[in-house]
Amino acid sequence: MEALITPLSSSTFSISHKHSYCSFSPLTTSTFLLKKPHKNASHRVQNSKYGNFLDLVPENKSEPIKFDLNRLDTSKRARLDLIVIGAGPAGLCLAERVSRYGVRVCCVDPDPLSMWPNNYGSWVDELSCLGLDDCFDKTWPMASVHVDDRKTKYLDRPYGRINRKTLKMKLLEGCVSNGVKFHKAKVWKVDHQEFESSVVCDDGTELKASLIVDASGFSSSFVEYDKPRNHGYQIAHGILAEVDEHPFDLDKMLLMDWRDSHLGNEPSLRVSNSRLPTFLYAMPFDSNLVFLEETSLVSRPVLSYKEIKLRMAARLRHMGIKVKRVIESEKCLIPMGGPLPTIPQPVMGIGGTAGLAHPSTGYMVARTLALAPILAESIVECLGSTRMIRGQPLYHRVWNGLWPLERRLTREYYTFGMETLLKLDLNGTRNFFDAFFDLNPEYWHGFLSSRLSLMELAMLSLSLFGHSSNSSRIDIVTKCPAPLAKMMGNLVVESI
Ligand SMILES: Cc1cc2nc3c(=O)[nH]c(=O)nc-3n(C[C@H](O)[C@H](O)[C@H](O)COP(=O)(O)OP(=O)(O)OC[C@H]3O[C@@H](n4cnc5c(N)ncnc54)[C@H](O)[C@@H]3O)c2cc1C
Repeated sequence: MEALITPLSSSTFSISHKHSYCSFSPLTTSTFLLKKPHKNASHRVQNSKYGNFLDLVPENKSEPIKFDLNRLDTSKRARLDLIVIGAGPAGLCLAERVSRYGVRVCCVDPDPLSMWPNNYGSWVDELSCLGLDDCFDKTWPMASVHVDDRKTKYLDRPYGRINRKTLKMKLLEGCVSNGVKFHKAKVWKVDHQEFESSVVCDDGTELKASLIVDASGFSSSFVEYDKPRNHGYQIAHGILAEVDEHPFDLDKMLLMDWRDSHLGNEPSLRVSNSRLPTFLYAMPFDSNLVFLEETSLVSRPVLSYKEIKLRMAARLRHMGIKVKRVIESEKCLIPMGGPLPTIPQPVMGIGGTAGLAHPSTGYMVARTLALAPILAESIVECLGSTRMIRGQPLYHRVWNGLWPLERRLTREYYTFGMETLLKLDLNGTRNFFDAFFDLNPEYWHGFLSSRLSLMELAMLSLSLFGHSSNSSRIDIVTKCPAPLAKMMGNLVVESI
């Protein structure tokens, strides 16, 4: 896969758009300036509660996508093979894949044509190898990491901001041409008989199919767990903002800024940041338009959202970034790690409901897009064949198709990564990433993209120890035994 990837030159920054209806494309300040800024926006900031960007109301009201969907005719009681709950990236991608093989699919979502709300970023190679490199609205040939005030690392791996609208349109077009039906409603209840399942929607409709796949995101209540859900949380506050000026290089996205000099005059924030650090993530689109996100990589219990925003305000002030307009804002809350749902069970999951978020980073879109075809194959093998594989054998095949033993074991390792990060303070975290990004790129690329085998992960651990500073080694030796023992225990349980 790697061999196919050609690093993008700076001339490829703004990838042109197939779909002229993209409200955010191409991403330039001028696009946003077409909309009239709120009157007296800067005046309001000066005379307001926080005196900074936290007072600005996000201006963008996302418009629904204009597209003709095949609506399900509920009066006809059509026979369905598969119901997908949710039209997020996971649900649409799976529906599109499965329907390629003539399997009858219905996707149920309260608003299938709404814009996805989150800002998605991804390593360019992760989408390129899926043939989706036209789904970025901006790419940067390099990423950077400020370990501290003295050390910055430059990562030779292109990164991009996913064009949500282009990706969603592509998936919707595929769904429509493959005959996927859509039903606009919220699923309330899921029921199972021996060889058939049904969903009841908030409009009173009941739909039946051989299999239900829950793609309704992290807060799903349809997928069950048989272990305590002891996950950590990634929490972040992000804004797409028009600014007077900013200090970021336009040819690099800032993956992590762990500097804390902005908290010099904020003793209480500094103390809490030393214990539970947050970093800045930034995607500079041009000299006035930037996406900024203050992020707690992982915490348990979750770090307060208010604290994140205050730290962000202090950071932007220190960097001299004056926000003129907030175009979009997002609250990011991602459960990380923790156990997988019960395997197997009658409801299948994909995306946030199926444990696909990377336990150490929270990234999920590229991985879901890569795994949806694999799950689709297992589903088609059962539902598309005349062998009538239904009920328990079906659930067993599809869950094990998505989560075969090797993938479950490697997930334990990534969860071990998360448990280790949870134990590190600011200095420990800095030392960790200093060593991590010094690793052979094959290792750190593979780790961040969840594509290493168990053996490669073991090699990575040894190499990481070798690259670590003495204080980092002490951290590993003193803080890792408990998570390590937990991982070993889980590996044994999974393997039995
Ligand atoms: C703010 C934020 C930023 C993120 N940024 C990134 C990133 O940069 N890169 C990355 O890889 N990952 C990112 N993630 C993580 C992850 O990729 C996203 O959460 C992603 O949207 C999950 O996709 P999904 O399809 O599983 O669920 P969702 O995107 O949450 O979609 C679920 C869909 O199901 C529908 N639904 C919910 N309940 C029901 C119901 N009862 N009946 C019918 N439909 C229902 C919802 O309306 C929604 O359309 C981010 C997450 C968040 C929260």
